[in-house]
Amino acid sequence: MPPGWTPTPFREFVLKIASRCNLDCDYCYVYHLADQSWRSQPRFMTDATVDATADRIAEHVRTHALEFVNIRLHGGEPLLAGRDRLRRIVAALRERLSPLTELSITVQTNGVLLDEPMAAFLVGEDIGVGVSLDGDRQANNLHRTYADGRSSYDEVLAGIRMMLRPEFRSHFLGLLCTIQLEADPVRVWDALRDLGVEGVDFLLPHGTWEHPPPGLTPGDGRTPYADWLIPLFDRWYDAPVRPLSVRTFESLLHLLLGGVGAHESFGLVPVALVVVESDGSYEQVDSMKAVGHGAAASGRTVFTDPLDALFDVPAFVQRQLGLHGLSEVCRGCDVVTTCGAGLFPHRYRPEGAFTNPSVYCADQYALIAHIQRRVEESLASRGTTLAAVRAG
Ligand code: SF4
Repeated sequence: MPPGWTPTPFREFVLKIASRCNLDCDYCYVYHLADQSWRSQPRFMTDATVDATADRIAEHVRTHALEFVNIRLHGGEPLLAGRDRLRRIVAALRERLSPLTELSITVQTNGVLLDEPMAAFLVGEDIGVGVSLDGDRQANNLHRTYADGRSSYDEVLAGIRMMLRPEFRSHFLGLLCTIQLEADPVRVWDALRDLGVEGVDFLLPHGTWEHPPPGLTPGDGRTPYADWLIPLFDRWYDAPVRPLSVRTFESLLHLLLGGVGAHESFGLVPVALVVVESDGSYEQVDSMKAVGHGAAASGRTVFTDPLDALFDVPAFVQRQLGLHGLSEVCRGCDVVTTCGAGLFPHRYRPEGAFTNPSVYCADQYALIAHIQRRVEESLASRGTTLAAVRAG
């Protein structure tokens, strides 16, 4: 532990309110990667577990005098919980937390169940809505299908269009798009832009050095994910008016310009996120399920332990150590303050566990170097430099 380290309180809570899904996306880290613990989870978080979770978060808010907390309702597919159960969950959270702190509640859904009554309910309950979509029909059909192989595209698009209606739009947070190397990036970009959404984020498929992501052979010198993203960055950056917000690009720009950033995948700020599984167990970021069976587990639960007990769990602590928690290679890297070694699970290999560069190291370096070059060119045309901006 570095001298003087103090824990960063948790402010982001991902509640796994439903452990099953109505789609069967074949890349899903919950069902199709190393960890199969979903099989032993209850289908839905019970009222008792929700109450205990809300009590633990309230306790944490009081202990650390937190001014805000964000709660993300997640799954599986969280909307499978249905409106009655969702209403009870939100009521329990608001009853305990709203008197203590600023509370934001969001849901991340596959969009299939986003009909008018559900959209009206979510907006009425002041719940922000994010939807997962991998681009145009062809890209989305590669992996985001029902168990029988049917496309989910039309239903998801109907859900997105529902959320874009004027009466619901205020609560539409945008799209999460997982990168498919087989999909044409420009077609994906055009499809997402043409939907008229305000924001999108691109996610890297999960993988580790032991089980690399699709299309990636670590160490072979290729950078297929950077090659996929760079043309999109250039389109976005060069547009006279940015057509939509892209969280990955904005976070990287912010970090390159000297900001501290708040993106779990980049930068060196301590990670302040906890997952509460459907049975009330605390887990690390749920993408840890890509690492191995039980890799995300903490051995602690909302019924037995305060959230502060997680500050004794090594992997939770390592995610809060910034530069001190990284491998020697990363500590010596010239883009480390921007890259931060990437998402925690992506660093895993049996030798050294999470004290490794990201399996996406070459891609992250190439993407960041490209963005930095573009920013330096822009600044030079205005008679200044990146170093001057960072210093100012
Ligand atoms: S680019 Fe590679 S070496 Fe540099 S910080 Fe990122 S993962 Fe580490």
